[in-house]
Amino acid sequence: MAAMQQPDARSLSSLCPEFITFSPRDTAKSWLVQSRDVLCAQIYGHLASYVSRIYCLGPDLNPQNEDLLSQTLLLAPLEWFLCGGEDPAVGLARLEEAQAPSQLCGHVFKVGEPTYSCRECAADPTCVLCMQCFLGSVHKEHRYRMTTSGGGGFCDCGDDEAWKKSPSCQKHQPGITDSLEDPLSQLSDDMTARCHSVFSIILKYAVDMLTWDQEEQLPLGLEPRERADTYYCMLFNDEVHTYEQVIYTLQKAVSCTQKEAVSFATTVDRDGRKSVRFGDFQFCEQAKTVIVRNTSRQSKPLRVQVMHSSVVAHQCFALKALAWLGHIIGYSEALRRVLCQVGLQRGPEGEQSLVDTLMLSDSKMWKGARNVYHQLLMSSLLMDLKYKKLFAIQFAKNYERLQSDYVKDDHDREHSITDLSVQIFTVPSLARMLMVEEDLMKTIIRCFVDHLRHRDLQGRFQFERYTAQQAFKFRRVQSLIGDLKYVLISRPTEWTDQLREKFLEGLDTFLELLKCMQGMDPVVRQIGQHIEMEPEWEAAFTLQMKLTHIISMIQEWCASDERVLTAAYTKLLAALSQCHGGFTEGEQPIVLTLGGGHTVETIRYLVSQDKVSIHLPVSRLLAGLHVLLSKTELAYRCPETLPLSELSPPMLIEHPLRCLVLCAQVHAGMWRRNGFSLINQIYYYHNVKCRVEMFDKDLVMLQVGASMMDPNHFLMIVLSRFELFHVFSSVELRKRYSRDTNKDVVQQNNTLIEEMLHVIMMVVGERYACGVGQVHPSEEIRREIVHQLSIKPMSHSELVKSLPENENKETGMERVIDSVALFKKPGVTGRGLYELRPECCKLFNLYFYHYSRADQSKAEEAQRKLKRQNGENSALPPPLPPPLCPLFASLVNVLQSDVLLVILGAVLQWATEPSTGHWSESMLQRVLHLIAMSLLEEQQQIENSSGDDDITFNFTGKISRPVDGSSNSASILSLLETLHNAPHLEVHKDMIHWTLKVVSSNKTMRERSASTSADTSNTHTHDQALRDKDKAERKRKAELARARREKIMAQMSEMQKSFINDNRELFEQSLDDRDPPVTDSAPSMVPEVQVCVGPGRGGPNEQQLVTCILCQEQQEVRGHGQAMVLAAFVQRSTVMSQNRATPLPHPEHHDPLFSHPDLNCGTHTGSCGHIMHASCWQRYFEAVQAKEQRRQQRLRVHTSYDVENGEFLCPLCECLSNTVIPVLPRATHTHSGAQLSLEEWVNLTTQQVAALHWNVRRLSTQSEEEEEPVREVCPAPEGFRLDHTPSNPFSSGIKEMLTTFGTATYKVGLKVNPNDHDPRVPVMSWNSCSFTIQAIERLLADEDRPLFGSLPCRQDDCLTSLCRFSSACWMSSPLSTVHTHCTRLLAALLPDPQVQNTPCILDVDMFHLLVSSVMSYSSVQCLDQSGRSTLDSAHLHLLSLVTVAHLVQTLMTSVTSGEVAMDQDSGGAEKEEEELTFLLYNNIRTHLDSLPEVCSGWHLLRCVKTGVLPFLRSAALFFTHLNATHTPPALRVPGLGHWEALCSYLSLPSNLLQLYYTHQPLMDTLIQRWCCHPGVRQALQTDSPVVRYPRESNRLIELPQDYSSLINQASSFTCPRSGGDKSRAPTLCLVCGSMLCSQSYCCQTELEGEDVGACTAHSALCGAGLGLFLRVRECQVLFLAGKTKGCFYAPPYLDDYGETDQGLRRGNPLHLCTDRYLKIQRLWRHHSITEEIGHAQEANQTLMGIDWQHL
Ligand SMILES: [Zn+2]
Ligand SMILES: [Zn+2]
Ligand SMILES: [Zn+2]
Ligand SMILES: [Zn+2]
Ligand SMILES: [Zn+2]
Ligand SMILES: [Zn+2]
Ligand SMILES: [Zn+2]
Repeated sequence: MAAMQQPDARSLSSLCPEFITFSPRDTAKSWLVQSRDVLCAQIYGHLASYVSRIYCLGPDLNPQNEDLLSQTLLLAPLEWFLCGGEDPAVGLARLEEAQAPSQLCGHVFKVGEPTYSCRECAADPTCVLCMQCFLGSVHKEHRYRMTTSGGGGFCDCGDDEAWKKSPSCQKHQPGITDSLEDPLSQLSDDMTARCHSVFSIILKYAVDMLTWDQEEQLPLGLEPRERADTYYCMLFNDEVHTYEQVIYTLQKAVSCTQKEAVSFATTVDRDGRKSVRFGDFQFCEQAKTVIVRNTSRQSKPLRVQVMHSSVVAHQCFALKALAWLGHIIGYSEALRRVLCQVGLQRGPEGEQSLVDTLMLSDSKMWKGARNVYHQLLMSSLLMDLKYKKLFAIQFAKNYERLQSDYVKDDHDREHSITDLSVQIFTVPSLARMLMVEEDLMKTIIRCFVDHLRHRDLQGRFQFERYTAQQAFKFRRVQSLIGDLKYVLISRPTEWTDQLREKFLEGLDTFLELLKCMQGMDPVVRQIGQHIEMEPEWEAAFTLQMKLTHIISMIQEWCASDERVLTAAYTKLLAALSQCHGGFTEGEQPIVLTLGGGHTVETIRYLVSQDKVSIHLPVSRLLAGLHVLLSKTELAYRCPETLPLSELSPPMLIEHPLRCLVLCAQVHAGMWRRNGFSLINQIYYYHNVKCRVEMFDKDLVMLQVGASMMDPNHFLMIVLSRFELFHVFSSVELRKRYSRDTNKDVVQQNNTLIEEMLHVIMMVVGERYACGVGQVHPSEEIRREIVHQLSIKPMSHSELVKSLPENENKETGMERVIDSVALFKKPGVTGRGLYELRPECCKLFNLYFYHYSRADQSKAEEAQRKLKRQNGENSALPPPLPPPLCPLFASLVNVLQSDVLLVILGAVLQWATEPSTGHWSESMLQRVLHLIAMSLLEEQQQIENSSGDDDITFNFTGKISRPVDGSSNSASILSLLETLHNAPHLEVHKDMIHWTLKVVSSNKTMRERSASTSADTSNTHTHDQALRDKDKAERKRKAELARARREKIMAQMSEMQKSFINDNRELFEQSLDDRDPPVTDSAPSMVPEVQVCVGPGRGGPNEQQLVTCILCQEQQEVRGHGQAMVLAAFVQRSTVMSQNRATPLPHPEHHDPLFSHPDLNCGTHTGSCGHIMHASCWQRYFEAVQAKEQRRQQRLRVHTSYDVENGEFLCPLCECLSNTVIPVLPRATHTHSGAQLSLEEWVNLTTQQVAALHWNVRRLSTQSEEEEEPVREVCPAPEGFRLDHTPSNPFSSGIKEMLTTFGTATYKVGLKVNPNDHDPRVPVMSWNSCSFTIQAIERLLADEDRPLFGSLPCRQDDCLTSLCRFSSACWMSSPLSTVHTHCTRLLAALLPDPQVQNTPCILDVDMFHLLVSSVMSYSSVQCLDQSGRSTLDSAHLHLLSLVTVAHLVQTLMTSVTSGEVAMDQDSGGAEKEEEELTFLLYNNIRTHLDSLPEVCSGWHLLRCVKTGVLPFLRSAALFFTHLNATHTPPALRVPGLGHWEALCSYLSLPSNLLQLYYTHQPLMDTLIQRWCCHPGVRQALQTDSPVVRYPRESNRLIELPQDYSSLINQASSFTCPRSGGDKSRAPTLCLVCGSMLCSQSYCCQTELEGEDVGACTAHSALCGAGLGLFLRVRECQVLFLAGKTKGCFYAPPYLDDYGETDQGLRRGNPLHLCTDRYLKIQRLWRHHSITEEIGHAQEANQTLMGIDWQHL
């Protein structure tokens, strides 16, 4: 097989014998002499004879061979011919050289490649740059947007029309050469002619083949000489069937394995087709039948064709030929232009051009073919400025046909030729040309309308009862709106008459579309019964949303030309009267009378009974144009010339008003039975996505109407539509209103009155639409932001979401944000926030029209709070409004109209009595707001006036008089004064006070301006009285406030509790800071010299009390007491691995006794620190198990924990746990006088070990009944009793827990089934203890925290339990097993000939050795009844021995000859140490001559000290927790340099070399034996890296600052399994930096018998089941643990606004936030990832539904 991979000439010539003799040059020469017609026949003949002998020779294609052969046999002669017989290598290169560098980049984007668009300079958001160009452009300093390409499309660098400024990067700057020159002048005429011939022949051939629809025959001239009976069964892609269906079907139809089927399906999806079977016709036909049968059940069957192999062969070559053409024209612009000519040339009899043929058969081709020719079009026609225009015309001519084809087809748009519209229509000059010459605007809209044929009786769109197919079509046809958007996106700067004409024609067509929408989906209020089926509403809103930008853009086009605007306005008026011409038909006219005799005629129409629709695009567009007219100069100069009077104002407002009333009624609960459909419609009507062209415009229309009517008439119509007329029409109104009606209706009417008052406020007060009020466009957006930030501080993205975006996805907020807000940067969590500038608070309007009721009450609360904080009163009066434009000027009269005064008076009158439900506070609040607005209006008029004459507004006058003119009713002013003192209106007191103040100041001003000297003392005393009263009131209020504060405090403490739960980690940390560890609580008992190991060790013998979290009982920790346990989580860990290349240990055969120093895979134990009775825990766990079983039967979903694997959540803190550690008392301190020296102890131990060996032999011979008895006598030293059985100091409950935890570490650590008899059980416990301590030591060192006193309690408790457990766990194993372990461990230190397979000291992690030997030695020591040696002194001897071994190990590995040059003077003590180190090193060198030579000990000592330090620190941690000793103060402060304190604490000399020199004879023997182990020499000599000390701490990989460079890196990453394909979900391992092809079939592998995705598979190897990844396309961190657990985590990349962008939706540039990345690294190094996942899954149930293992 290997030979097949590398095609060589011989294997190729066996496929095609002429290969060796074939000469492209000669063939080309023979063609050169032919005439054009003959040439075509000759080339066809050549193809006919070779193509089917190169391509498609069997079931398995061999693209490498095929490509090589086709290049040599088919394409090379063409190249020679092109160059006129010259070597193409020379000829083409010459062309390329002559080429001026291109001014257009045209780089075609790969899938996933980053693209950049400048928000400031791009003509529209589709204009993008490639990364290279972007980095070389000025836009990188601008506000830019970054996205990932979906593939297709190209870089617009150098295109003048794509950029408002700076169109070129440095590389594509326009050159000196004149670019207008015809590129063809570069070619000789001969060459041009030859190119023409070859291109036309080859392009024609390719087009014929790709559009060929016969399965057997070939086009004329291509028939091969002999036809074999070989066929392909070709399967085509569709978007109907799922991957699974296809895979399943294929397995059945062609009986392939699942793997093959997956591969077939992947290729079909990618290329659009794939042959699934090769053979004779019968054979293939059979497969086809099965596939068709299997897939035709629910849908149309999969497309399958049985094709003759020669047809397939020619199609393969046709694709190759197109790619070749694309390659050849890359050499020269001239060649490109020739190809463009050929492609667009019509046939001699006017037949369609080749490009037309391709486009028109686009939807019939398979995906792969389409992609190839689209690429060619992009690199040829779209890159040539002249031909781009010609192509655009052809494209526009074919537009309708292409769109119809596309709508019928099912492929995604990116695979359709219609997708090229973005390349053409977004070029303003082309779009304009096509609009004028090809009627493009009209064509697109008509085409769209034609596709939506389903209409109701009035000709409106009807989406109800759409079939699935219609719905599908509706979705596809929406792309047309996208095209329309491209055409309109750049506004014309200059208008021609032609353009005006075509645009207005387009507008006519557009109005036809809008007319079909006006009044669609009408609703009728449901009374009695609830509606049975929710009516369809989404389609209509989808349409509305899609058209929103189009409608806005049409308005902007109109705004740019006054002639167009007036013409458009007239068209709209006509369209509206067409829609509602019969406005009064069937609706009876009625006459209304109110407020001092005002009468108006209107119709009888009730929103609550008749049909009403929320869709009024025609009215709204008219409203939009009206506002534009109002902005024109004409409106200021001579408004009478405007075409305004054609429709009556009541008719203009009728439908928008109905819409607002509908909303009010829904709000009042009158439409409850109409279901969610209506609620959703109302929601979107106000939503930021739609409101600009819906709600906002309805309001404008009311303003338009009101400004042209008598305000009283307007208000009466409003009252009538709100169905409230009767409430206000009678003099006795309130009494009748309250008596006659039931409570619900009163409530309903209350809400309606509130809503109506709000509508009136908005009609008069909303003036920020430019054209209604005299405002600058930026003031509108500024006001929106002020009101959003009045609710609460917001992040950038929240603000963006709350603001309307224009068609360029811009809100315009950047221009104004800084003037109204302050930015606050985020911390390690959270987001950056904008806060409202304090001085902007005065712009706050409580009744801002875009507030929902919820927004409003939040804003009100926030603003009142702010006022209180600033010590102001709590009134929230309206802000000063901007002046109105002339056309709308009369709107203010609504405020002083008689009808409004009647309404205001009525509500105030009601409010004089405490509410009995007949009026509401918010009603009153609105009335007060309206009065305040009127007063401000009056104030402004007075201030701006020069005399009394021009003040038309006299509100204070009007409210001082009785409301209805009769003397028996009170005036509004007197009502206000009454209310001011009403005790039930406490909340409104400040506001009423404010109002009265303005009234009096207005009066004063008016009097002053009228220059009448009135007596002001009256008002003055009035003011004084008010102030006094105010004082008393304030006192009462303070009292109230205090009561409220207390209530809030109670709430706060409740909230704090939940806060603790939410921020557990943080809180625990701070708790721990406050409570020092228990052992430090009795300073009086601290001895002066503290040691943690050896005979001198101290420590309190106080009793230890703990509380069970489950039953709350206190319990003393005793060996014979009730067992207490800590919830714990054991996991495998590669966090400290020094070598990720080493495979993880094999579960069954791994011998874990000696740990390798690379710490490749360890077992980590962690705990939340919560203690329970073992019995309580067991009951709890059983309950969890039972519950889980029941739940699984019911729901069959994962939980965040896996009960079957022993997992549970800590009952207190819900921390993930999988076992419990028993809590044990500290080892008792044995005081013994005599102590053995090291030499004596070694001697004794050697004898003891020998006795053990003897015993083992004796036992084994006994059991095997060997004939020869053991003759030797027992060599046991005195008092060493082999038959002694040590007593077990533990209760049965504790023993059981010892087994539980031991088995758990064994099971998890080795990944095996639990087996408590396995000899490796105690070893795994010891290992877990050492590994956990080492991990913690590294963390403390790296985070620069003190060795002692800085760990959270939970970790302290966990370490203590772990150490004590490890020292006791040997008791639950057979004594002989532990003895074996012990003798083997000791043999590594004290080489023992009776023990085999002892590793050399370079292969042993010394800390593991220390812990294991200390732990196992107890089993030997307990047999010694002589009392000569104590455990404590043995521990110290073991520590000394291991330390020396570690010194030697460090000297062997960590000295490099390169570093020894530096030598410095050191002090006396140091000097001695240096010399001793030097001697020891040379001593070692006598055994190992391969070690580098050094000249002094200076460097050596430093190596040793830094190398050994982590070991010493770990040992200190270990013995401290084992023996519960007091820690020395020096080790409780940060810093690493406490060498002396550390050594003395460990009972070691601070000059460690003394350990060697005091015992030199013993040590020399040991060193000699260690060095002579064959393993040492081997390890030092091989190139494999030895572990050096200190071991480096692992970090997560380095990430680039700029996120786009990651995207770029990922975009060039290809799937490692499917041969150079782009990966869809490239994912980066943060631990090792591997890039993976995630979430895809192609890279699934099997893990423990299950299919898993690349991430799960990788984490099994790289992280022993744990994975940290960055999903590059999503910009999302992924945590995985095992196969079932995972969660997403916020990425460490932030935009300039301090926000992450998960999913890369916003496209702001992202930069690395180091602190956040460190936080992730901390989680990882603290072994908290699994815990994090657990919490995430508990918090968010949807995470459980994700199939993590397939990522
Ligand atoms: Zn570029
Ligand atoms: Zn460029
Ligand atoms: Zn720019
Ligand atoms: Zn308990
Ligand atoms: Zn807990
Ligand atoms: Zn990795
Ligand atoms: Zn893959």
